[in-house]
Parts: sequence; C-alpha cells; structure tokens
Amino acid sequence: MEKVAISLEKINLDYDEEADVLYLSFGEPREAKDSVEVEGRFAAKRGKLSGKKQVWRCPACLVDVVLPFLAPEPECPRCRRKMVSMLKPLVKNGEITSDLPKASEIREYVLEQIGKMPPST
Ligand SMILES: [Zn+2]
Repeated sequence: MEKVAISLEKINLDYDEEADVLYLSFGEPREAKDSVEVEGRFAAKRGKLSGKKQVWRCPACLVDVVLPFLAPEPECPRCRRKMVSMLKPLVKNGEITSDLPKASEIREYVLEQIGKMPPST
C-alpha cells in the first residue's frame, strides 16, 4: 500500500461567504481545469457529470459509488450490502451544524477502515 503524508501547513482553506462554500486545496490554489464560466458562474464542462452528487460507501468492503444526489440508495456492487452516504453538511451559513468527532474517534474509524483494506501486492 502506498502511503501519502500531507502536512497540515500545506492545506489551504478559503471560505466564500456569499456562496457559503468552503474551498480546500493542497498546496497553492490552482485554477480548475474541468470547469468553465457560464454567465458569470462556474460550471463543469459538458460530459463531466455535472450536478450535485452523493458518495456512497460500503462499510464492509469500502467500495465507493458516486451518484446524482437524489438517486435512490444503492447496494454495494461487490457484496450487495447496504451502503452509507459519505457527504454530510458540517457548515451552513458559516456555522458548524454537526458535532465533530473527537480525534480518538477519527483515529479508531481510520484504523478500522485500514483493517478492511486488501493487502498490497
Ligand atoms: Zn461491499
């Protein structure tokens, strides 16, 4: 398994209060290559699956599926189990709307997921 380490000092956060959007970039912010400006607003290029999405993950085998936001809940394409949604709103109008997990809970969650990953070849 390839390991990736990212220093927190290299993560840039930029909050657009008017749009209520938090931008996160690793390193210096770069221009998005797959978006175009249409009538003053940014949009994905045609054929790039534009629109709001939901990411679904199988908690058993960690398969991710990305679907339109309003699509019905899928079953895991590998093991047919129920999948869980991964994108949940945490900030609305600049206010944190959910309790954030403790660092120890995040650590346990990550270790649990690493334990489910297949061994590297
Ligand atoms: Zn599965």
